[in-house]
Amino acid sequence: MEKRTKILATLGPASDSVETIEGLIKAGANMFRLNFSHGSHEYHAQTLANIRTAMKNLNTVVSVLQDISGPKVRIGDLKEPFDLKRGDIITLQKKEIVGYQKSDNEYIVSINYPNIIDKIKEGEYIYLYDGTIRAKVIETKKELKAMIENHGMLSSRKGVNFPNTSIDIDVITPKDIEDIKWGVENKVDYFAISFVQNAKDMKHARQLLGGYKGKLIAKIEKFDAVENIDEILDASDGLMVARGDLGIEVPYYDVPTIQKKLIKKANLACKPVITATQMLLSMTNSERATRAEISDVANAVLDGTDVVMLSEESAIGVDPINVVDTMSNIIGTTEGIYNYEKQYKMPYLDQFDVIQATATKLADDINAKGILAVTSSGQSAIKMSRYRPKTNIYAFTHKKKVLNSLAGVWGVSPIGTIKEGHASVMFNKMLKTLERNGILDHKGPYITTIGYPVGMPGSTNTIKILNESEIQYYLNLKQKS
Ligand code: PGA
Ligand code: MN
Repeated sequence: MEKRTKILATLGPASDSVETIEGLIKAGANMFRLNFSHGSHEYHAQTLANIRTAMKNLNTVVSVLQDISGPKVRIGDLKEPFDLKRGDIITLQKKEIVGYQKSDNEYIVSINYPNIIDKIKEGEYIYLYDGTIRAKVIETKKELKAMIENHGMLSSRKGVNFPNTSIDIDVITPKDIEDIKWGVENKVDYFAISFVQNAKDMKHARQLLGGYKGKLIAKIEKFDAVENIDEILDASDGLMVARGDLGIEVPYYDVPTIQKKLIKKANLACKPVITATQMLLSMTNSERATRAEISDVANAVLDGTDVVMLSEESAIGVDPINVVDTMSNIIGTTEGIYNYEKQYKMPYLDQFDVIQATATKLADDINAKGILAVTSSGQSAIKMSRYRPKTNIYAFTHKKKVLNSLAGVWGVSPIGTIKEGHASVMFNKMLKTLERNGILDHKGPYITTIGYPVGMPGSTNTIKILNESEIQYYLNLKQKS
């Protein structure tokens, strides 16, 4: 089904073969996530090679996102699972130990970031096992003691969250530094940074890229990140609304409004935004999604997200291709009631942005078959996407790298690379490529933007309509070389 909103599918044991990746792309996946919370470098290298083979086989372009795991705080190993009950006391101690039951209602564990213990105050809450067990801190003198408030089973190495505590740890761990190095060497398109707290974290990540032009996505999954969103957005190339951890860090009922707020801010700032986690979770084990999940995907689309993400559903689920197909159907149908006009009220980003705004509006007004965008940094295609035209944006770039990253931008179809040259030569090349790919409508019209005089540095300053006779003229143009 035709769609503008992009799908990011996490790859894992259920989906990492060339054959399945091809199936996922055909079903509508535009980006793939390599989740560095699991798997070795060798494993991810093989998956990446498989993605690239699939791209070649299908003659198409997708983006690769490397998800850097960050400092996930966990309890240590336990002798045996704890059957925790309301009123039980759990002690977090700094020394590394194997957790054990001390008495009838007392349990002792350690955590992998012991320094956090000093930052927690009496009366604050800690959450165990990804939010399922809540405990109130009752003592912080030598060790940290907390009282369990609801029943739950706790097993080894489960996640711990501190939603009231600014833990201020380095969100880029030694493992992350090695992983980012891997990403740079293997030329991934996007890096997603987990548990970001402020702009400083993103600047540190940027430094680690060492000049490599990968795009940096800030995963918003901590309460302090929500508070510092403006500076984080400023230091990032895009956002992820990482609802899995976010839903533990902030009151659960705040998640939908935070999602809407983050998407709007990202749209306004002209930065792509991904909405993530539990979108079609029940499909990990079942053939059909729940009504609530279907509505969740549809509502994220209507909120203005660029991308919707699949996690377990596509990584370890029973039928990843069916999941992507379901997501495509929901997106495609929902875009039928998308409020495109509303997006024109976006304020211009700068004086040249009037070109992107006008080109997209004109394209819709004359019912253009596409917008042809030549973009060297990708920025002008992203700027057009921000105005959410009904018309597809066919992007051509000078560098392959930039082309691949555009697969993750709403409404942009990355078509191919093109050498910088005279406008007529580029029109010839672009139209021929569309014709070869079976996309070209010979009647047109198409809208395109260019910079005159050609070769003069500066922004795009001209909008052109290519009608039927012009399309024919440029297609027939003989090239000198
Ligand atoms: P994760 O990130 O899957 O790496 O935890 C997404 C989220 O927290 O929602
Ligand atoms: Mn997370």
